[in-house]
Amino acid sequence: YLRLRGLSKSFGDTPVFQNIDADIVQGEFVTLLGPSGCGKSTLLRAIAGLTDIDAGEIEVDGEIITRLPPQKRDIGMVFQHYALFPNMSVRDNVAFGLRMRRVAPRSRRERVEETLALVELGDHAHKYPHQLSGGQRQRVALARSLVTRPRILLMDEPLSALDAKIRQHLRDQIREIQQQLALTTLFVTHDQEEALMLSDRIFLMGQGRILQQSDAESLYTRPASAEVAEFVGAYN
Ligand code: ATP
Ligand code: MG
Repeated sequence: YLRLRGLSKSFGDTPVFQNIDADIVQGEFVTLLGPSGCGKSTLLRAIAGLTDIDAGEIEVDGEIITRLPPQKRDIGMVFQHYALFPNMSVRDNVAFGLRMRRVAPRSRRERVEETLALVELGDHAHKYPHQLSGGQRQRVALARSLVTRPRILLMDEPLSALDAKIRQHLRDQIREIQQQLALTTLFVTHDQEEALMLSDRIFLMGQGRILQQSDAESLYTRPASAEVAEFVGAYN
């Protein structure tokens, strides 16, 4: 599970979020939804350890990870732009995290093949990023973050650079893999349809807070405040 307690973050004098409390249970798929600039990426980066927080604690499966460096957090992250190594094959891109952890070559190979199969890229292992489509590149990025079997998967708008048809396919594939691995997942988007299709629960972020945490239906039928109602377009 992932537990956030009292997380606060400012850039200089400008607060981004304040006193964020949230729990994501083991195997749950939560979507963090909210308008541009509300702090979604910053919150994800804070959980991954890519940016410092000013206050609060982050706990994963009973371990406080707030002060651990990113590589010790056991968290996978996928970004909007794939951030693959251009000079490495698909196989080597995916193997990277295992090599960093000094996993023995044989188990490394097995795990890489297994993970490539999971994202249906087994036939492309020898290719280089520039030989792949956007959707395939994003699947390499997903494989690369899954290869170490992280405790938490964070995804920051992984689909928004893709065109509609591929986006839908990859969306379904992400959900399938997430369920298969029972991965505790926090997924960022500002696309409401994506949030509806994917999530066990939705966290709606705004004004530096999480305004509502609920299943998708309640978000629309029982918005907790006028701000929520306005964002989801449900005016009562
Ligand atoms: P989007 O949906 O557009 O991706 P977001 O919800 O991910 O937006 P963030 O990128 O987290 O928003 O940014 C939140 C706020 O923090 C914004 O006002 C942004 O300008 C500011 N911000 C983000 N990164 C920095 C930084 N490194 N230095 C200063 N301000 C920053
Ligand atoms: Mg963002």
